[in-house]
Amino acid sequence: MSDRQKEEKRQRNLEYAKKFKKKKKKKTAPSPNPFILMAPAAGPFPATCARCKKQTEVPFRPTGLKPVYCDECFAMVRSGAYVPLPTEAEPAPVG
Ligand SMILES: [Zn+2]
Repeated sequence: MSDRQKEEKRQRNLEYAKKFKKKKKKKTAPSPNPFILMAPAAGPFPATCARCKKQTEVPFRPTGLKPVYCDECFAMVRSGAYVPLPTEAEPAPVG
């Protein structure tokens, strides 16, 4: 490759970089990145315990799909002392 070709390529790259920069600057997406919502966010987040309705804090973002428990109730759930009732429709008995 000759020096001239190199220089031309460099110019093209510069122009491309300029265009790309401009385009990127213009393209400020107002919608949040969905991956940010998926990523573990820095807690704690305020939440209401699904069992005792006490205000508590959880290290993860409450999704609203799964019940959130305070430390006390979570310990009970983990140990099996408290079995949360399924909120979804129970599976129909077979037969
Ligand atoms: Zn609780």
